[in-house]
Amino acid sequence: MQLTISNLSKTYTNGVQALKSVSLTIPRGMFGLLGPNGAGKSTLMRTIATLQEADSGSIRLGEVDVLREKTTVRQVLGYLPQEFGVYPKITAESMLDHIATLKGIANRKERKEVVEALLQKVNLHQVRRKNLGTFSGGMKQRFGIAQALIGNPQLIIVDEPTAGLDPAERNRFHNLLSEIGENTIVILSTHIVEDVTNLCSSMAIICLGEVVAQGNPASLVEALQGKVWRRTIDKADLPQYQQMYRLISTQLKAGKTQVHVLSDFAPDSSFTPVEADLEDVYFAKITEKMNVVTV
Ligand code: ADP
Repeated sequence: MQLTISNLSKTYTNGVQALKSVSLTIPRGMFGLLGPNGAGKSTLMRTIATLQEADSGSIRLGEVDVLREKTTVRQVLGYLPQEFGVYPKITAESMLDHIATLKGIANRKERKEVVEALLQKVNLHQVRRKNLGTFSGGMKQRFGIAQALIGNPQLIIVDEPTAGLDPAERNRFHNLLSEIGENTIVILSTHIVEDVTNLCSSMAIICLGEVVAQGNPASLVEALQGKVWRRTIDKADLPQYQQMYRLISTQLKAGKTQVHVLSDFAPDSSFTPVEADLEDVYFAKITEKMNVVTV
């Protein structure tokens, strides 16, 4: 089974065109949807999750028409939204039990087993009787995953899950996601390149509502090898470099500015070749798109 998005478009009433004919094929496994803030990721995620309407286009989950058969989609969907609010004065265990009831697990014993197993899985079993209000950001996100997993969903959507998590919590969250990503379609929407590098077997980059790249992270990186060059410059010279070269990123290192430039050959002898990574792919695609727009 796969998720097929075809020519999906959405313009909000304020005139913002959030999705412009987006087409994507998303197979089983972890899929990274990468893009800067405002790219249209949440709009796309909410549309797939049947929470908002598109203006045109179609989405199919296997044989299911997602935009029309909303109830069927909701039965196989697990969704962790960007803003996942929790009731502070209820324990993790009772809340999961409640959500399991809402998701249709009527049998009490079965529900207890499901909740127990999920709490183990997301490593919150020890704190199951603590109120959700006492949980750290990472614990809340893991709780969010537990609730999304109730009922064995075939499609899981996680929207910006690692924003605000410290490195250890992020790592724990990554491990959890990669465990569940094997037999399910998991869409991870994020603006953090590292999340995708570490986790995803396929991906897309969206910018200004359009898909600017899609495929397998390793192939996208491979296509850029030999074309990225580095140089350390004075910050004051930056505008000049922006004029002269296809600058894809700048980074401050020990008080100096390091630039990455995209070029089929060495721009001049002062540049050194760089082993391209997914961050270079991301910035190359994003800056290309942004430049087209500002011309
Ligand atoms: P992302 O999740 O990638 O940050 P969004 O899908 O939230 O992007 O937003 C895409 C664009 O649509 C942005 O320009 C945003 O301001 C706009 N937008 C999002 N939601 C609404 C809304 N409900 N009404 C009007 N504009 C919106």
